[in-house]
This record gives sequence, C-alpha cells and structure tokens, in this order.
Amino acid sequence: MTGQTLNEVLFAGSVTDTSRELQVAIDGGERFNNEGWLDVKHGRLPVAFLGGPLPDVEGKSTGGYVLSLRDLSETRRTEARLHLAAHVFDSLAEAMVITDERGLIQSVNPAFSSITGFRESEALGHSPGELLQSGQHKPEFYAEMWRALHERGNWQGEVINRRKNGELYTEWLSISALRDSDGGAKQYVGLFSDVSARKEAEAFIHHLAYHDPLTGLANRRLFCDRLEMALRQAQRNDRPLAVLMLDLDRFKVVNDTLGHMAGDLLLKEVGLRLQFSVRDCDTLARFGGDEFAILVPEINSPEDALLIGRKLLQALKASLAIAGRELFASTSIGVAIFPEHGVSSEELLRNADVALYAAKHAGRNTMSVFDPQTFESNDDLELEMGLRHAIERNELVLHYQPQIDGESGLVSGVEALVRWQNPALGLVPPGRFIALAEQTSLIEDIGDWCLNEACRQITCWQAEGVAIPRVAVNVSARQLRGEGFAERVMETIRQHGIKPQQLELELTESLLTEDTVHTFEIFKELRAQGIRIAIDDFGTGYSSLKYLADFPVDVLKIDQSFVARLHEQSESLYVVQAIVMLAKGLNIETVAEGVETEDQRAQLLALGTNHLQGYLLARPQAAAALAEIVERFTLLAEAKRNRR
Ligand code: C2E
Ligand code: MG
Ligand code: MG
Repeated sequence: MTGQTLNEVLFAGSVTDTSRELQVAIDGGERFNNEGWLDVKHGRLPVAFLGGPLPDVEGKSTGGYVLSLRDLSETRRTEARLHLAAHVFDSLAEAMVITDERGLIQSVNPAFSSITGFRESEALGHSPGELLQSGQHKPEFYAEMWRALHERGNWQGEVINRRKNGELYTEWLSISALRDSDGGAKQYVGLFSDVSARKEAEAFIHHLAYHDPLTGLANRRLFCDRLEMALRQAQRNDRPLAVLMLDLDRFKVVNDTLGHMAGDLLLKEVGLRLQFSVRDCDTLARFGGDEFAILVPEINSPEDALLIGRKLLQALKASLAIAGRELFASTSIGVAIFPEHGVSSEELLRNADVALYAAKHAGRNTMSVFDPQTFESNDDLELEMGLRHAIERNELVLHYQPQIDGESGLVSGVEALVRWQNPALGLVPPGRFIALAEQTSLIEDIGDWCLNEACRQITCWQAEGVAIPRVAVNVSARQLRGEGFAERVMETIRQHGIKPQQLELELTESLLTEDTVHTFEIFKELRAQGIRIAIDDFGTGYSSLKYLADFPVDVLKIDQSFVARLHEQSESLYVVQAIVMLAKGLNIETVAEGVETEDQRAQLLALGTNHLQGYLLARPQAAAALAEIVERFTLLAEAKRNRR
C-alpha cells in the first residue's frame, strides 16, 4: 500500500468530516483522538482513531505520524444490547427483581413497584421476603424454594404475597440464579406477574361448575365428587353412609299457576330450609328441577338416616310465604344406605331414586328406604324412572304425520306424535310410555311439553313458509282433568303468537262419557276461542254416539281398526258409513286413520271421508321433512287438477 495517500487507504479517496479533521491534525503535528467510520469493502466500520506525531528516541519530532485504529463493532453491539435490556427491564409487564447473592435487592423495575406498591428506593437493600412475605406459606415452602435454587439454579411456583397496602395477592414467580465462573450464585433474578385476577376468575368458574346458580347449593357434579370421596372413607372406616333423594310434591303446579318466578322463590326457600336441617359435614345438592339430594357421610346405623329424613319432612311442613301466598312444599324422600343398598356412587344414587319412586307411589310427603323387591316386582320401574327425566334431558321429540284433504289432495294438517329417544332403552313407542305416564302426574308434564313444542313448531313452519294449516296435538284425559287446562292452552298459544285456529286438540272418546259436565265446559271454552276439538279413535267406545250430538266437537277420527277391516268385513264398512253420515248431519268433519292401501283410500273417499291419514300417504316424520312432503302433495294435486 506504499505510495498511496492515507485518504485513499482509509476513506477510499472521499473527503469526510473525519478525514478532514485527521488531515488537519497530521499537518499541524497534533494528537488525534476520535471516533468515526471507516469505509471498508462491505460497508462501514465504527472505529476509534488514536494518532500523534512520531518522535525519535530522544523524543524529537521526526516529521512522521503514527495512527492506530481500533474496531468498535463489538463495543457498539454490547452497548445496543444493554440499551435494549434496560428498555425491556423498564417496560416489562412482569415485575423483575434482581438481588445479590445474599438475597438483598439491587434493582427492581417499574412493574415491581406497581404490583407490590414499593418504590425502587424503598426496596433497595431489603430482601423480597422482608417486604412481601404474607405469612400464608409455611417455612418449608421457602426452604424448598432455596433448595431448588441451590441445586438446579431455578424455581417456579405460585406465591401468595402481601402488597405494601396490606392486600394479599397471588403471583406466579420464577427465580433464576446467575452463577459466577466458579459456579457459586452471584445474583438472583426474580420475574413475577400478578395472577390474582386470573385466580379470582378461576375460582368463580370453579364455583359455577360445581354449584346450582339458583340456590347456590352444590350441583350433581360436586355431589358425586363428594360421594366418591365419602365412599372411600366409609370403606376404610367400615362405617355406613346414607344418600337421600328428595323430590318436591306438586312443584309443577306452583310453576304453572304462579309462574316461574314464584317457582324459583319456592326452590330457594326450600333449599334454605333443607340446609338448615342438615349438618355442616353433610352435602345438600340440587340436581335440577325440584330434585334435591343429601349425602350423610357419617351415620352409626341406618336409623340415623331415617331420623334425618323425618327432620327434613318436618322442616318443610310449615308453610312458605311466596308471591303473597301461603304455600306448602311437601316432599317425597328416597333413602339408600352404603353398603347395604350399593357400594358404588351410581348404585346408591340409582337405588335412592328407586326408593323415591316408591315413596311417590305410596303417597305424598313420605319417605321410603330402598327395598330390592320393589325393583324385581316392577317391570315398568326403569321406564318410569327414565321417563321422569325425559323432558329435562331433551329426550322427547315430536314427529308429524300429514292428514290429506280428500277433495283437494292437499295437506290439510298434521298430527303431532310424541317419541321418546332414551339412551339406554332406545326408541320407546308412545303406546308404551304414555299409558305409564297416565298413571302418575307425569302425563301433565309431558302433555304440556308436547303442546308447547307443537306451537313452537307452528311458528317455525310459518317463518319458513311451509303451508301447514293446522297441527293436531293429542291430549290425555288426565291432562284435561288437571287444573286450569283451558287457560294453560290459551296461554301457550298467546306466548307463541299463533292463532287458535292453527291448533286442534285430539281427545279420546271415553271423555264424552266420563266426567261429562267438566269436559263439556272445557270443550265449550276452547272452541269459543277458536281451537278445534277432535275425538280420537272414534267408534271404539260406541256408547258415545248418543252424547255426540250434545258435545261441541269439530272432528271425528275414525279408528284405525275399522279402516283396517274395510276390505274383509262389511260390518266395518257400515260402521264407517254410519260415522260419516252422522258427522255430516252434525256438521262435523271426519278423518280416517291408518290408511295403508289404495283400496282403503278409494273406499273411504267414496264414503265421503273428509281427510285421510296413514302410512299410504305418509308416515310420521321429523319436522324438517314436512316442507318436502307438503310440496309433493301440492304438485300431485296440481297435476290432478290439470288432468281434469
Ligand atoms: P293416535 O293418536 O291414534 O295416533 C295414531 C297412531 O297410529 C300413531 O302411532 C301413528 O304412528 C299410527 N299410524 C299412523 N298411520 C298408520 C298406518 O297407516 N298404519 C298403522 N298401523 N299405524 C298408523 P303412535 O305414534 O305410536 O302413537 C300411538 C298413540 O300414542 C297415539 O294414538 C296416541 O294415543 C298416543 N300419543 C302419541 N303422541 C301423544 C301425545 O303427544 N300425547 C298423548 N297424550 N298421547 C300421544
Ligand atoms: Mg291421535
Ligand atoms: Mg287415533
């Protein structure tokens, strides 16, 4: 490089501030101490220049000049890193605290101050323990922390600490030891965040998951957890344990007549009274609806459970003041005892339920202890127990079977037919469970559900533009005799905003002969509002012909048995003919049920039946299938009209 000027070597011949200043120093024989940039092949390099006139051995000037250059790249990088670290330290959402090897604070960041309330000046020189310890952890907790730090060099965990203002909070803390070259800890760095808010949210969610929101009592889940635990304990100690199941009597009546608000109040009040009657170590839970359960984890003998049961019956005896009325909330109780009546939680709950069922049958306001014989002697038991939960578990569904107008060929209405899909029993036909439900007040709940569901479906079809003029809903005699039936129907219609003309109620013929005055009044009331009344399975209870003329009805449904025998027995033909004639005379419409063959259809139409219903035309279907069916019949009817 000899022969080249300094400027050419260092600055590639260009004139920069540094090059100019350097030239001045060289020319003047002065020292040069400066930082600047050096142009190199791949860019620029930060450098420190140190230069001065070159002296000879005696220190006299030789006229030469020495210049040394030091690469500053690494220094600059370190500076940038430190700057970044300081910035991160300050702006971190997490609190950071750095202590020396004795654990005394050397530095804290702003987040530390905002979480703990201690300013940096208050923290320096103190140990975090001195400032923050809450007394919530045992000495072993801290000992374990230090052990981990010494052995592994780090520790993580949840710590409850105290802020400067005295408030407790939970932090998630992670500590690392910074070691010096011989392996000893030089400093400790603690990083933590305040997780109190998250803890509170967690606790709240936990509470929601394990408690009944209405009464604040344990829910089924918590009850089952506790029962499992209590069972293990009972097994170890060889002590009995009791499960009591409660179901309020006639709760539904309160709900229906006074409204859900009153029902809720009643449940709350009952929850309080029950809570008051059990001990702290017992678990009282609400399983939903009007069902409560009590776990008595420690009893000396089965008699203890009966004692508690009697106490509960007694507690509910006094009337409750709800919605300005005096109500009585009696209950039925079923008891199952470990180990006599079961060793698993499922078995005990199930058998307590069986005992409850027996209590309900024995009459209201009673208690009954599980008796294995009830179970063996009653085939319907499983069915009835399952049925009790069918509604709340959404196991019921309505299917709809079209009725076709004999003249126009259009869908004139559909009949709603209930189906019960039980996970354990499969699809149970209504013929099996309706009869069973009719033996208890369950039929009223099921009937209400069906009516409500049918009205809801009417509004859905209406919104989708599916032309179904009318839905017929089956009503059992027991339902009709229940209190306030007509009002309930009208209320349901009003709630769904449908017209009374869109609803038809199918009632059995026997109603015309039993309890005639009451039935007559209800029919009159419903018809006055515009609801159609149909008599189902007409012709089977033949004594009714004489009542028919007096009764306000709109439709007769000719029983399937006559339709089925139309072809082989002329007798059936005459019966159908008579019914149709009678109906015409009384201005009542007829529907023939169970039409399965073309022959039957032809004969029924020839006899003048107004509507046809049966597998030949369409089977009962899920609601979603009806749009297509209506469309099919509309097209068929149009095609037929065009042919004429
Ligand atoms: P139902 O009211 O007389 O209903 C007609 C029954 O005949 C239905 O049986 C229907 O599926 C069936 N069916 C329709 N077309 C034909 C056919 O062409 N051939 C034959 N063999 N059968 C046909 P499902 O659905 O099993 O209902 C049986 C009974 O259960 C009903 O008789 C009714 O008394 C009762 N039921 C159904 N749903 C309800 C309900 O929501 N409430 C009440 N209280 N009772 C209901
Ligand atoms: Mg029917
Ligand atoms: Mg019928």
